[in-house]
Amino acid sequence: MVRRLLQSVPGSSRNLRTKGMLLGVACILLIILIGILQLQVVWGESRLLAQVQESNARHRTVASYLSLLQDVETGQRGYVVTGKPEFLQPFEHSARLIGPIEAELVDFYKPHSPEGRDVAILVRLGQAKLAFSRLVIARRQSAGEEDAAAIIGRGEGKRLMDRARIVAGTVERHEREHANALAFDHSGDRQRLQLVIVVAELLLLAAAASLLGSLLASIRSIDRARDEASDSARRQSAIFENASDAMMLLDHRGDIETVNVAAEQLFGHPRTEIIGRSNRFLFAQPPREEDSLAYLDRLAREDARTAATQNFAGRRANGSFVEVEVVTTPVRLNDGLHFLAVARDSTERRKVERLKSEFVATVSHELRTPLTSIAGSLGLLSGGAAGALPDKAARLIGIAHSNSQRLVRLINDILDIEKMESGKVVFEPQLLPVAALLAQAVQANLGFADQHGVGLLLAEVADNESMIADPDRMMQVLTNLLSNAIKYSPKNGTVRITSHREGVRQRISISDEGPGIPDEFRTRIFGKFAQADSTDTRLIGGTGLGLAIVKEIVERSGGLVSFDSTPGQGTTFHIDLPTPFALRRPVAAGDQRVRAGDKRCQILHVEDDADTLRLVASAFDGLADVHSTPSAQEAQASLYRFHYDAVILDVTMRDGSGLDLVPLISELEGETPIVLFTAADIGPATRAGVDGVLIKSRSTLADLVATVEQLLHGERELAAE
Ligand code: ADP
Repeated sequence: MVRRLLQSVPGSSRNLRTKGMLLGVACILLIILIGILQLQVVWGESRLLAQVQESNARHRTVASYLSLLQDVETGQRGYVVTGKPEFLQPFEHSARLIGPIEAELVDFYKPHSPEGRDVAILVRLGQAKLAFSRLVIARRQSAGEEDAAAIIGRGEGKRLMDRARIVAGTVERHEREHANALAFDHSGDRQRLQLVIVVAELLLLAAAASLLGSLLASIRSIDRARDEASDSARRQSAIFENASDAMMLLDHRGDIETVNVAAEQLFGHPRTEIIGRSNRFLFAQPPREEDSLAYLDRLAREDARTAATQNFAGRRANGSFVEVEVVTTPVRLNDGLHFLAVARDSTERRKVERLKSEFVATVSHELRTPLTSIAGSLGLLSGGAAGALPDKAARLIGIAHSNSQRLVRLINDILDIEKMESGKVVFEPQLLPVAALLAQAVQANLGFADQHGVGLLLAEVADNESMIADPDRMMQVLTNLLSNAIKYSPKNGTVRITSHREGVRQRISISDEGPGIPDEFRTRIFGKFAQADSTDTRLIGGTGLGLAIVKEIVERSGGLVSFDSTPGQGTTFHIDLPTPFALRRPVAAGDQRVRAGDKRCQILHVEDDADTLRLVASAFDGLADVHSTPSAQEAQASLYRFHYDAVILDVTMRDGSGLDLVPLISELEGETPIVLFTAADIGPATRAGVDGVLIKSRSTLADLVATVEQLLHGERELAAE
């Protein structure tokens, strides 16, 4: 709900912003349009004024022309009647002005327009009138008043003048009509423009009102978004502060930006001491800066949804250590990349896990011996060792035998996986020729394949192909995969084994023609006790642990396991293992120990009795790290890998004597004290190279701790953190 609200607010404000922008643009366009229209009105007015003035000028010119003709007439008549030359002055004056006015008149109008033609007639009439008047004046001067009056009396002058008046009237009428038409057209244009302006102004008003509305809505939506954001921030902050897990927000370099109360409590530092510092200062053994940056960089490049889990020993403000499990997720905010680290104290959980697996191991271990003998006895019985059995009894014994075998397998698998998970299995990686390894695995599984009527087909592998792995563990992996392939193959089916180099890896593939892996089971297939169809597999006989063991071994060998399967068409399992080209540090149990500090002692304890191993480990709890090793062989492998400050040896073990290790320890570790902690009472001859001997029946664990402490005294304190 909250998320929906938060999402809807930015969306609606974006809509409002778009709408506001559109309305703003519309308002600006309308204002420009109204301005242009107003300019047009003004231009129209001034054009009309100019045209009317031109028309008036033309009108006035025609009137002046007529008046000049009139003056000519008046001057001519006065001179004819009086014979006084002063009457000729106005005549001459008007006659001089007539020429320019005629030119003006001709210029006003186009020659072929009706007005142009009228003006041409008027000018011709005017010139005829002027010529007539000059003729009359010349006759008066030469022949006297009577002759001149006789010419006038013929009426030619009057006719010319009358016609000139009529034509001038026509031109003037045209001018008036023209001026009226202009005024009329202009008022029509002006009305249309005014109408458009009014409409544009109304639109502008509407757009401005909408703009105002959307501005108000925008302001309201921003207010709402701000309120919701601040509510959400308060909610998030309450969740962050009150979370039971420690939370830290880191910047892109891993410097701590924010922490919650749980983080302050977990590390015992107030937040003022944490914020601004690199997260590395919380580690008991801080990683190098470049390693830490590379780790964050890898996280950022990987899918942000896949948070990375890390286990490390943290250091509290008071100097004590705390086991921490931290999940780090990249978070991309507006100001760049950050990381959210969620940490919790895993000491208790690890203790419980340890207890649980120790319990499972103990129970399984205790069950294995009696079960093995039950299965063995039942096998003997069903094999006729105690004589022939009645049919019914033989059938029942057969069922009991196969089920007891299944139980033995289950217990062996449980013990295997528990040993591996608790790091008790030492891997001894070495260079393995692939062809020989596969031939051996095929040989070992031929009998099982025969029982199921399944053929094993090993494709040729190049002689020089090799990989890095522990041979025994690889045999366990191949046997598990081969037995699965055989079990799930149809009768007369074939299981194919191939191997080839893929880059720096060696790939081994085992294919069968069985039912395939159902899609819904694919993600669970490597889980413990995972079976696609438990009723079916119960018939086939399995524990659901085989593939979990395969995965554990392959991954701890630095490899990968995967499969391709089409339901109904068989399955191919692939294991990809390191080759000499990708040689890396061998994965071994002790390799993963976290040394809590430099002062802490490392003790190797070799003992085949699990109880004694556990008791000794707990006796040194808090004083030293005890590496418990259940066999001489494993102890040897560990000695090749790690330094120890002291070694505690049992003498008689199933796979040899601890005493056999003494020369090796002396050779590898020099002065490292060796203590025998044994049930057997041993003589002084066997004590060579040994620094102390404690007989179990006569010594307590406290004696053992004291002896080791004493031997170390002066060299190294058996002190707690
Ligand atoms: P199990 O002992 O039951 O075989 P595994 O861990 O080896 O246990 O296998 C788990 C389950 O995976 C099996 O029960 C089976 O359902 C499925 N499975 C394993 N290998 C194959 C295979 N080759 N073909 C089909 N199903 C297989």
